[in-house]
This record gives sequence, structure tokens and C-alpha cells, in this order.
Amino acid sequence: MISNKLQDAINAQIVAEMWSANLYLSMSYYFAAKGYEGFAKWMKAQANEENEHAEQMAQYILRRGGEAKVGAIDAVPQEWDSPLAVFEHVYKHECHVSSLIDALVDLALAEKDKASQDFLMGFVREQVEEEATAQGIVDKMKLGGQSALYHLDAELGTRK
Ligand code: MG
Repeated sequence: MISNKLQDAINAQIVAEMWSANLYLSMSYYFAAKGYEGFAKWMKAQANEENEHAEQMAQYILRRGGEAKVGAIDAVPQEWDSPLAVFEHVYKHECHVSSLIDALVDLALAEKDKASQDFLMGFVREQVEEEATAQGIVDKMKLGGQSALYHLDAELGTRK
């Protein structure tokens, strides 16, 4: 059985994952309006992934005998200055999410909850990938400048 403290903390993370999903959906629409169909598709896949994280966390709480809750989700940004600014935002946001996941692991350790430690380590690994992917796109954009955006848009549009 999961402790109330950990249950509440993971429920808060469910809201954070849903906020992330909305952020990436907002970015997807921003790109679509600007004609970047590949970036828009990539962001929609990213949004779906965040909703999937929220679902995995909810199912985990339920399997451990707790109660999963969907809390209020704050509004997300809608405007950015450039494609580079969007992906810099993604990188910064993923670093923030990593710190949230780390804090959950710390709590699972404090609660001596081995199952939750094991469950959460999957997200620790996931965050390594998220940060690296976002950083990689930012690097490519900076290297290629404006003229590389067309090709990068096509490349990211191949994401399933
Ligand atoms: Mg996530």
C-alpha cells in the first residue's frame, strides 16, 4: 500500500505531466499556424507521451491501493519568439521536470517505499532522454541557423 504522502506527491506529478502535455500541444498549434508541420507533429507526439506518463502514474497509484486524482491544470504559454525559443523552452522545462521526478525519488526513499523507488527510476531514465533530445534539437538549430529549419522540420516530422 502506498503512503498518503507519496500518493499525494504522485498525484501532483500527474497534474505536472498533464500541464506538460498542454504546453506541448500549445507549441504544436503555434508551429502549425506558422507552417512548420513537422515541428507541429513532433510536439503533438510529445504531448501524447506526457499524457501517457500521467496515465502510468495514475495506474501505479491505483495498483498500490491508493486514489488517483486529476487536479486543476494551469494555463500554458501560447506565444514564442522563434522555433529556437520554443525548443529552448522545451529543454528548460524538461530540466525542471527532471528535478520534480528527483524530488519524488527522494520522497520514496524517505518513505522507504522500494516499489515506488523502482517505478520512479523509469522516469529518471526517461528524463535523461528528454533532456538529451531537446538539447540535441537546440544544438542543431543553433548550428544550422534559419536555413536549416526547413530540413529540421522535415526530419522531426518523421516522428511516429
Ligand atoms: Mg513526462
